[in-house]
Amino acid sequence: MYVISLDLGTSGFRSQLIDLEKKETIKTVITMGHPLPGGNVMDHLDFAITTGTDVAHGLIIETVKEILKRFNVEPEKIIRLAVCGNPIQLSLFQNSEIRDLAYAGKNKQAALGVQNVKRDARVFPANEIFKGIIKMDNCEIIVPPAIKHEIGADALAMMLETDFINQSEPCLVTDYGTNAEMALKIGDRIFTASASAGPAIEGQGISCGMLAGPGAISDVNLEKGYWRLTVLDSTMHPAKGPLVDPVTGDEIEGSDTMPKGITGTGVISIISMALKEGLISKLPELPNGKLVLGDGIMISNKDVEEVGKAIGAIRAAHMALMIEAGMKFEDLEHSYMSGAAGTYVDAEKARQIGAIPGFSRSIIQFGNTSIGLARKIAIDSSKLEEVIAIAKKIQADHVMMASSETFKDIYVCELSTWQQGMPADVYAQMLEMSGIPAFPANLKEVEIEKRVIRDIDDVGYLGLDIVKDIGITLEAPVYKCILCHECEKECPEDALVIVEKDGNRFVNIDSQHCLGTSCRRCVTICPEQTMNHALLKIQEKK
Ligand code: SF4
Ligand code: SF4
Repeated sequence: MYVISLDLGTSGFRSQLIDLEKKETIKTVITMGHPLPGGNVMDHLDFAITTGTDVAHGLIIETVKEILKRFNVEPEKIIRLAVCGNPIQLSLFQNSEIRDLAYAGKNKQAALGVQNVKRDARVFPANEIFKGIIKMDNCEIIVPPAIKHEIGADALAMMLETDFINQSEPCLVTDYGTNAEMALKIGDRIFTASASAGPAIEGQGISCGMLAGPGAISDVNLEKGYWRLTVLDSTMHPAKGPLVDPVTGDEIEGSDTMPKGITGTGVISIISMALKEGLISKLPELPNGKLVLGDGIMISNKDVEEVGKAIGAIRAAHMALMIEAGMKFEDLEHSYMSGAAGTYVDAEKARQIGAIPGFSRSIIQFGNTSIGLARKIAIDSSKLEEVIAIAKKIQADHVMMASSETFKDIYVCELSTWQQGMPADVYAQMLEMSGIPAFPANLKEVEIEKRVIRDIDDVGYLGLDIVKDIGITLEAPVYKCILCHECEKECPEDALVIVEKDGNRFVNIDSQHCLGTSCRRCVTICPEQTMNHALLKIQEKK
């Protein structure tokens, strides 16, 4: 008998097949992207509301089907699937209400009739959502509870899977991702927040970026005056990569583990190292406008700005959260980092550029806490009761960064630093003018403890299988199309094509690679205004 743990992340899904008797991981499957168009939760939410929750749900279920196929076991032998993720992903997976997450205003929610939506733990037959898709007659699905409406199961996992929940000293935990979830604990009180960091923190949206996967540069270190690259190998272990001169791009010493791109932690490391080594005298300007890490692999000034937006948002949210919670910065004792970016990053370099408070006395790095919690519940379903009991006891207040003036004031300073190289003394003056207490200097040395080597510590004896291309096409009629092909030329991702069937014209869009709401260039360019993403449906596979 088998059980499955599934983490529905914003940048991709991660899942493990586990032998229930031996409690042993057999295989891990991850997707290199999310099946819904767009690069963040707001894009996913907008897609689901505009195009339909049935389509969004269908995309998620089709992707889970592909993952299950890769496990290559009889579906009837799977008895439990435990799933974790943020409230939007878990609601779309279950095809349940999401409009309360899109409209924060109480009046709007009342008008839509979507007030007080509960996101309690759920146990239900897999057939409820897989009927007619996969025969999973013996399987139950377990969804852990949210703490409150806006504080989801992923935040609960982040608190439970690290030591955060049991800490008596003031501590901060952050799940580094496209949407960085964070929580601050002061005594018995917990304050949560999330920062829309954007995809750069996971290596997307930058010129040579990639998600954490085999071939990703995850770190750089100084060696003999050059940069030694750390590259993730085929099992996601950080391995020794080539030695390079980042200014000339020359390879000084080769390696068996060749880089293919740079993941978010690699970019953090590169920027931190470039600042330390004096290669950047003023942000975001790199020598000759770029640093070269390999054949065709480089980071540009524009990339530095993109990553700056992400780090700036996280730093502004960390500081605003402490201020809104009424805490003195100097009291922060421990900072926990989770998620792929929190695991692989060199914490010392991360704190030097503000991705984690530099004045926290200790930093503890964990892996993917969402899949960790799903795994525990999948192996032992009685754990769900414990999780529900803890979730009920947690008294947490959510600080909305979107409406926090403190956040806005700090974020403006961060953007000015990353995009125009604003000096530190001007930053401090701007804080003072906004009535924000001065930030403490970074401590010279802090304790750093890495609890795991990989974000998924044990990938199983059959190893890691990566779904690079989810391969789902969305289709909509383009009734008035004149076949000008402007939309195809305009698409920055080459994600769409116009096809003719039985004399009718349709747009076909690669759902994984479409940038969604934040793009819509194909809609804007169409001279006939016939491109309508609200009409998209999943194309049946032939
Ligand atoms: S142009 Fe259209 S299909 Fe292409 S990425 Fe943008 S929204 Fe998606
Ligand atoms: S831009 Fe509009 S009219 Fe031109 S090919 Fe695309 S859908 Fe057809």
